[in-house]
Amino acid sequence: MIELKNVFMSYNERCILSDINLKVESGEIMVVIGPSGAGKSTLLRLIIGLLKPTSGEIWVEGREISGMDEDTLNVIRRNMGMVFQYSALFDSMTVGENVAFGLRQHTKMDEQHILSVVRRTLRMVGLMGKENIMPNELSGGMKKRVSLARAIALNPKIVLYDEPTSGLDPIMSSTINRLIMSTRRILGVTAVVVTHDMDSAFTIADHIAMMYDKKIIEIGTPDEIRNSPN
Ligand code: ADP
Repeated sequence: MIELKNVFMSYNERCILSDINLKVESGEIMVVIGPSGAGKSTLLRLIIGLLKPTSGEIWVEGREISGMDEDTLNVIRRNMGMVFQYSALFDSMTVGENVAFGLRQHTKMDEQHILSVVRRTLRMVGLMGKENIMPNELSGGMKKRVSLARAIALNPKIVLYDEPTSGLDPIMSSTINRLIMSTRRILGVTAVVVTHDMDSAFTIADHIAMMYDKKIIEIGTPDEIRNSPN
């Protein structure tokens, strides 16, 4: 579903990612761990095409995206959802309008259909009936769930998560972990999750990629990573 081949990335000539190779199979949850500044968010931005690599190839659903223009990329992105680190909800819109945003922007769905998708998606993330609440009335964990609902409303094949449990208490973190797993089970999505929450990584991952000093230094199952000298 996703493959990075020999990817190098620099900002202003400063190398951030060096020779990254990573394969994410369809339906898999790939967790990327590593210290702050290792390049994890940069990796996500490359996969969604917000950044272009300095060199190397990025394949999504069998198509190489790094040479694509913005219009073609937007077609590819139609199958991708992203849950941002700080939820990034639109503060002036209700929960329902946030979740409906992509549906209104990118589909010709009629209003009744949109409202029913919003209702169903909010129910999936445990926020049934919260359509008319404003984001500033929500806790951090609820915002994350709205952000997840917005990401999955368009029925994407891929969901990218940037630090989905950061700043949440352990109980809310485990709720978010369960939601990431149930989203994969119910919708069959492929997920790439960037985190430095090791409990979350070991709970949700099929494979864990460990980043350090611009490189992926190890990829393995949670058990393999647990027993790694790294
Ligand atoms: P992580 O998500 O692992 O914390 P990032 O991908 O955010 O790491 O950042 C990796 C490195 O790239 C950091 O040293 C950061 O300062 C640098 N960086 C990130 N974005 C930019 C940018 N837009 N311009 C210049 N440097 C950047």
